[in-house]
Amino acid sequence: MDNKKDYLLLNVQQDPNDDTPIHPSITHRRHNKKTSHHERALMSNFESLDFSEIDNILLRQYNSRQKKIHKLFKTLGKWVICTLIGILVGIFCYCLKESVDQLQKLKYNYSSIYKPFFIYLGFNLLYGIVSCLIVCFCGPLSSSSGLPEVKGYLNGIRISKAFNLKTVLGKITSLIFSFSSGLVLGPEGPMFHIGSGLGSSMSQFKSKTLRFHLRSFWVFQNDSDKRDFISCGAAAGIAAAFGAPIGGVLFALEEGSSFWSRQLTWRTFFSCLIATLIANLFLQGFGVKIHDYGVLTFGVSKFYLYTYTELIPFIIMGIIGGILGAIFVHFNLRINHLRKKLLGTNKLYKLLEVIFFVILTSTICFFPALLANCRPVSGIPTNSSGSCDDDIIQINTIQFNCQEGYYNPLATLTMTTLEDALQILFSRTTNIFTPLTLFVFTVFYFVLTTLTSGLYIASGIFIPMMLIGSAWGRLFGLLISEYFTSVDPSIYALIGAASMMAGSLRMTISLVVIIVELTETTQYLLPVITVVMVGKWVGDVFNESVYEHLIEFKHIPYLSSQPAYHLRTKTVAEAMSSDVKSFPEVVKVKTVIEVLETSTHNGFPVTMLPKLHEPTSSISEILCGLILRSQLSILLKRKIFYSLDELTNIDFINDKGYDLPIDHADFQQELASKIPSISLILNDISQEDHEKYIDLRPYMNFAVVSIKNYSSLTEAYRLFRLAGLRHIVVVNVFNHVVGMLTRKDLT
Ligand code: ATP
Repeated sequence: MDNKKDYLLLNVQQDPNDDTPIHPSITHRRHNKKTSHHERALMSNFESLDFSEIDNILLRQYNSRQKKIHKLFKTLGKWVICTLIGILVGIFCYCLKESVDQLQKLKYNYSSIYKPFFIYLGFNLLYGIVSCLIVCFCGPLSSSSGLPEVKGYLNGIRISKAFNLKTVLGKITSLIFSFSSGLVLGPEGPMFHIGSGLGSSMSQFKSKTLRFHLRSFWVFQNDSDKRDFISCGAAAGIAAAFGAPIGGVLFALEEGSSFWSRQLTWRTFFSCLIATLIANLFLQGFGVKIHDYGVLTFGVSKFYLYTYTELIPFIIMGIIGGILGAIFVHFNLRINHLRKKLLGTNKLYKLLEVIFFVILTSTICFFPALLANCRPVSGIPTNSSGSCDDDIIQINTIQFNCQEGYYNPLATLTMTTLEDALQILFSRTTNIFTPLTLFVFTVFYFVLTTLTSGLYIASGIFIPMMLIGSAWGRLFGLLISEYFTSVDPSIYALIGAASMMAGSLRMTISLVVIIVELTETTQYLLPVITVVMVGKWVGDVFNESVYEHLIEFKHIPYLSSQPAYHLRTKTVAEAMSSDVKSFPEVVKVKTVIEVLETSTHNGFPVTMLPKLHEPTSSISEILCGLILRSQLSILLKRKIFYSLDELTNIDFINDKGYDLPIDHADFQQELASKIPSISLILNDISQEDHEKYIDLRPYMNFAVVSIKNYSSLTEAYRLFRLAGLRHIVVVNVFNHVVGMLTRKDLT
């Protein structure tokens, strides 16, 4: 059906008094929507957030009393909260790294060869089991990276328990143990979630777990401010984990947030700076020299530059990274589907799975290394050599099963922490690893990362992806040196890491900045940018980023920045719900209770009261506002009811006779508190009250967003996405309410 015909069908031929909201053919087509009922049911577990401020009489009265100093205090408060977020995230990051360090030391001090394999495995099993048990206790949201959930929240979806204290503490403790358990996973993704959780806790001055709620901080206790603080915390988490403050801001902007403002950039940047500074101060001590700044400093040359002809192999590496990244996304997703099908929600199975993978990983890390050829340590700048060459990083080679003066190249990569392995792969010394070692390492770690991501423990994939990328990148560099011309393999390791991350995570600018901040090498900006762009483009040919797929996998009704292609030909009428539950401006208490009891909707259009204007029936369908279930619950709870006599004395138009029993601050405090269910509220409402009226006019949102039923669905999508809306009321050409649209109708 073309658009012109659509319009005619829906509006011009429609009589304003005709009750049928849309044409039957439209209703028929709505049932053919692609989304299955099962998927819709899963999505309905999620509610949306209210990012838009409710523009009503209460707010206007409040604003007219406000002075500039109040605004100033609020702004100052936000800066203080951001500082606290930065400090807290920095301290947590330090605790994480220090605890992991201690646990790893404990493990590696005890294990060196054969008999100690069981000690090594024992430690790994202990750490893995503890990590999984913590998740079992704290809930599933403490597992994995939490990035899809944070992304979903910042997109406008309420994900219950995602940021509560139990989840955040569970995630950090689980992460400490999982990261020490020898499994192939990294802490950066979970740090994004931990930072968000800290941002949420620090800014809201309330906790369900600790059962306290400081109501006087109500100005910050709303969804949109909370969203901004969560963005700050998330960015600070990444910044502290990588030691990359700008990278943190850009990551939150590019990957995390769906809504951003200039003010948020400054505040987020400030939180990131504080978090990085605090983490580094604690980790490195106060006497740190400036050039040591950075949590991870790699040994890429500061003086050797690439030649422009090397851009060709770099582009090839981008293509390889894109393909490998897409393969990772594909298989990881398949495995996660299988995991869900086979293990379901059984916690014992999940624990057994973790045990199995710890044994598998420990075995793969330990035994193949025994077959590797030992190499002499001489010529390699180890810690014991006492080299003080500023330009060459000291390397901790692992002796493992080799005799004195020799090291085991594979064990040097597998029997150490992932961060140390990464540092060695970035090292300038050219002859540490043979191509075979690098190849074997790449294959093992690629398979292990694909299998590990999704286990019932806190885990991320940043560092594993960098590690895999730098291993095959270094191998690529060695092969070029062997067959073409002499190149520095450390640069190829860097480029490989960038391309692998771009291929799987599909980040661009934030990834480039993180890489540059991590390695402190601005000279390689051009090749890094090139390879990241190529990696992303190639990956995009095959599938979406791993996080986008995980969001889908978890049935989070996420609205991505661009509408799906098939929406292009659809109209709003084809997606909307047409049996609209709405209220007139003045409504009987009984009616409100009935609707709240019999429906689960959270937003209701408010239509014009007929007798205020001409008493025709069609006027009662004209849209004039929107009221939320939470607002109605508060009105019922506070019993803000009127008798018919009282109502006739109120002149709303001229604002006479109004004596509002609640002000904006009070209302907002109620909204920020736990709102009792309708059945509980009903206990306090007498039969007599049922016959009274609620006047919705001072409370309803005047700035209700509506769209015409013949508009294109892509426009509705854009409106939702850009304005962060929860409901759009659909009206026809006469401004009569004919439908409702929520994000679930668009996903
Ligand atoms: P959310 O859950 O996103 O916070 P909500 O509970 O108001 O908002 P949804 O659960 O998203 O709404 O909506 C489920 C379905 O109900 C959607 O198809 C939507 O169009 C429809 N719907 C929402 N509000 C109303 C309403 N007032 N009257 C009729 N249908 C509605």
